[in-house]
Amino acid sequence: MAPTKPQDWLAAIDFTDAAAAGARIAQEFDGWAPELTALITDSDTAPVLRPFHAPPIGHRWDRLPGVTLLGDAAHLSAPNGEGANLAMYDGTELGQAIAAHPDDIEAALAKYEQTMFTRSTEIATEGAEVYEMLSGGNTAHSMINVLVEDEQTPISR
Ligand SMILES: Cc1cc2nc3c(=O)[nH]c(=O)nc-3n(C[C@H](O)[C@H](O)[C@H](O)COP(=O)(O)OP(=O)(O)OC[C@H]3O[C@@H](n4cnc5c(N)ncnc54)[C@H](O)[C@@H]3O)c2cc1C
Repeated sequence: MAPTKPQDWLAAIDFTDAAAAGARIAQEFDGWAPELTALITDSDTAPVLRPFHAPPIGHRWDRLPGVTLLGDAAHLSAPNGEGANLAMYDGTELGQAIAAHPDDIEAALAKYEQTMFTRSTEIATEGAEVYEMLSGGNTAHSMINVLVEDEQTPISR
């Protein structure tokens, strides 16, 4: 369960009071089947706050000579199933950029960052849409639409 909330909202919940914390989190899933909200309110284990931190979508930085970032260091995000893929893709692209500009590391890093920023923004945007779908209203219908679309869309990668 991952409601997307500001830190102040989370700080206002007393996680030392398991019942109250569970009830407050369950409120975010109002309208869900009671069998599912019971997983939050009736657990033998007290809820544990495990926040995901991520930079804002589209985060980027000015070129710093001789330095760049890749993988999670460049674009940490809440789990979206793409983190390892992106890290490996970044590494490949960085290697290719350096190979293409063996005598000009700044040109290589600039070229790598240009596409990396675009790529990570696209993936972060998609990931945020999935989170919105999973934690927003009408989740069941949204999931069914995604599964139906996947069924009808030929896999292209
Ligand atoms: C529970 C979980 C499930 C996930 N599931 C998926 C999934 O299904 N699909 C997917 O694509 N991604 C998934 N991810 C994300 C994926 O694991 C990461 O996006 C990916 O590992 C990022 O790779 P990275 O090389 O950038 O960083 P990391 O894999 O974190 O590697 C960084 C390395 O640097 C080392 N390090 C840190 N500080 C120092 C230091 N000061 N000196 C030396 N070494 C240091 C660390 O020990 C670590 O080995 C998941 C992540 C988690 C936590």
